[in-house]
Amino acid sequence: MDKNLLGKIQITGIIECLTGLHIGASNENVEIGAIDAPVVRDPITREPYIPGSSLKGKMRSLLEKALAAELGIVGKTNRRNIGTRNNEVWVHVCEKAEDALKCPICRLFGSTGKEGGKNFPARLIVRDAHLTKESVEKLSEIDTGLQYTEWKFENAIDRVTSAANPRQLERVPKGAEFEFELIYNVEETTTLEKDIKNIRLALELIKLDALGGHGSRGYGKVDIKIENIKGIPVEAIKSDANKIKEFKSFEQINELFTVFKS
Ligand SMILES: [Zn+2]
Repeated sequence: MDKNLLGKIQITGIIECLTGLHIGASNENVEIGAIDAPVVRDPITREPYIPGSSLKGKMRSLLEKALAAELGIVGKTNRRNIGTRNNEVWVHVCEKAEDALKCPICRLFGSTGKEGGKNFPARLIVRDAHLTKESVEKLSEIDTGLQYTEWKFENAIDRVTSAANPRQLERVPKGAEFEFELIYNVEETTTLEKDIKNIRLALELIKLDALGGHGSRGYGKVDIKIENIKGIPVEAIKSDANKIKEFKSFEQINELFTVFKS
């Protein structure tokens, strides 16, 4: 599908952990005798980070729940199992690109067409969120035996045998801050306002939900602080940097939309 690009909207800010955060790494690369459930880390710096895919996945699923009634997404209707047969995970995906264009979920997060159908590329890019410099310094000073993180015993009870199964969960401590960046591709102006409002809604919903694993045990409560929203029309990228408009919050977004409507 050919698409026009009118410009970009860049949203940046800080994700602050209000409780310990656990975004799990795959256990495959963990040494024997190490922690049971490690957090995902940058392979070079060894610093824990929030993968863009985790943040994007959470935004998508919370927005899907919030808009489900409006979009007629009920049970398995308009949903696809992206999990396995034993561990089903049903998410909404439009099967046709022309439907995706009209769908607030697929427009932002993309859809993959089924059996020869066309993919609809996401308008939203969610980058990996890395620790701020201050957080790296602060976390370097704490002594837990782990680099930048802490660990906590969680007692999981086997539902069949009632046997306790204590596991060590690694987590990023409360107070840690990550820098996040979202890029929205402005392709047309009729759905622009709605899309940005839904991005804002998804971020608000995360604050009332949790990031990463073990949210029901209190993990992953975060605050999301917007620091800058930048409207970058294509002319600004090509030649005239003066056309870039910057805003400090979503409250000012009405003026943001005019940047692309001239
Ligand atoms: Zn859709």
